[in-house]
Amino acid sequence: MTKTFRVGIVGGSLVGTAAAVLLRRHGHEVTVFERSTGALEDRGAGLGLPQTFLDELAAADLVDPGARGLRSSTERVFAVNDGDSPLGRVVGTQPMVVEMQHWGLVYQQINARAGDVDIRRGTSVAAVVPGEHRSAVHLESGAVEEFDLVVGADGYRSRVRTDLFPDARLEYGGYPVWRGVVDESAIPDITPVEDSFQSIGTPRGGTAIYLVPGRGGEREKGRRRLNWAWYDGNVPAEVIGTEYDEQGRVSRVRTVAAGEPVPPEMREYLRAAATEHLPPWHREIVLNTPDVAVQGIWDLELEHYVNGTAVLMGDAGSVARPHTASGAVKGLQDAMALARLVGESGSLPEALAGYDAERPQAAAALVAVGRVFGTQQVLDTPDFHDMDQAGFDAWIAQGASAMHYAFRQQAPAPA
Ligand SMILES: Cc1cc2nc3c(=O)[nH]c(=O)nc-3n(C[C@H](O)[C@H](O)[C@H](O)COP(=O)(O)OP(=O)(O)OC[C@H]3O[C@@H](n4cnc5c(N)ncnc54)[C@H](O)[C@@H]3O)c2cc1C
Repeated sequence: MTKTFRVGIVGGSLVGTAAAVLLRRHGHEVTVFERSTGALEDRGAGLGLPQTFLDELAAADLVDPGARGLRSSTERVFAVNDGDSPLGRVVGTQPMVVEMQHWGLVYQQINARAGDVDIRRGTSVAAVVPGEHRSAVHLESGAVEEFDLVVGADGYRSRVRTDLFPDARLEYGGYPVWRGVVDESAIPDITPVEDSFQSIGTPRGGTAIYLVPGRGGEREKGRRRLNWAWYDGNVPAEVIGTEYDEQGRVSRVRTVAAGEPVPPEMREYLRAAATEHLPPWHREIVLNTPDVAVQGIWDLELEHYVNGTAVLMGDAGSVARPHTASGAVKGLQDAMALARLVGESGSLPEALAGYDAERPQAAAALVAVGRVFGTQQVLDTPDFHDMDQAGFDAWIAQGASAMHYAFRQQAPAPA
């Protein structure tokens, strides 16, 4: 397509920035509105991106050639708390190649390619009004700007989604995830995660503990970090601060970002739960994590991403549970697909129709896998204390893990 467009992108995180870089490369005039003022380098520590996908990003010149993450494990070890045994009793193991990138490093490399994209940090978008020929971006400041194409890449609580599809609604998955990151140097014994992804089965839940690259992407021993996540279907509604809408559906649960103070009742709950359900090695890591974060697990799928000349991408378009470890991959694929279609097609409406036919469907498959994961691995877990390797193999083979392997056609890296 030789015609160039004015493109406005709402949200300048991983996905919005990738879309900006790729569309700018095709010659379009791109403006990004990002409400955060600060650097985004530290948002999220580990990101499970398979090396094959990182190679695709390098081939698309979104990251440096030869970019490599950390192969942090080749095996998953699944255990349960068992008295004083530091690592608990191993229930089963499974082959699992986990390749972790540093979120900040991937973002920095994409952002470094933004060149003359007009990135307006500290600029909040209040509304997007989609139109057939042009769409309007209304800023919190009161200013209004018009674009040939508006992209909503404003995350899972997307404002743009509400404006494009007022009936769209996040569905609560029924549980939150507690998360933390600890410097390797602060952990007395790192051997349990040297080459294995550790999981502890807990009542209606489970953990994932694995190494991720250091703050600057370091992969060498001593400078890496340890990432943990605990999907917890047992948290009482009053602890997670569940709010309901008029129809009685969960509309919000409490979110604590890393670095924010954890309310005392949540801290106390986590301490008691970790003491009861985690083996000593895991418990110490959880209880000594300086910045614990917690967030609800939500699902969202849409039939359409396009309304007139405004489109959604990334978590704004659909939200797949973090068990799938694929939300960022999906969002980056959205960005690459939109740029490709706008580049190849004879007209913008044709390109957007192609995008709408391709991306919501791909996302829906992933959201479905995430739901199965949630049921299998959190809300409807068997009693792991009764399980042996054969039982573990059967459990894994029945559920979402098997689907996920098929879907990604390679070993996934669960979050
Ligand atoms: C626990 C956990 C682990 C995960 N692990 C993985 C993994 O291993 N692999 C993987 O692929 N994915 C993973 N994901 C998913 C991945 O993190 C997300 O899918 C991805 O970050 C979404 O990126 P995004 O750019 O669409 O949205 P976000 O990163 O949420 O960015 C949205 C941006 O929009 C901005 N914004 C919002 N509203 C406005 C507004 N009104 N005006 C202006 N700006 C606005 C925000 O400030 C933000 O910068 C994980 C998610 C979780 C929760």
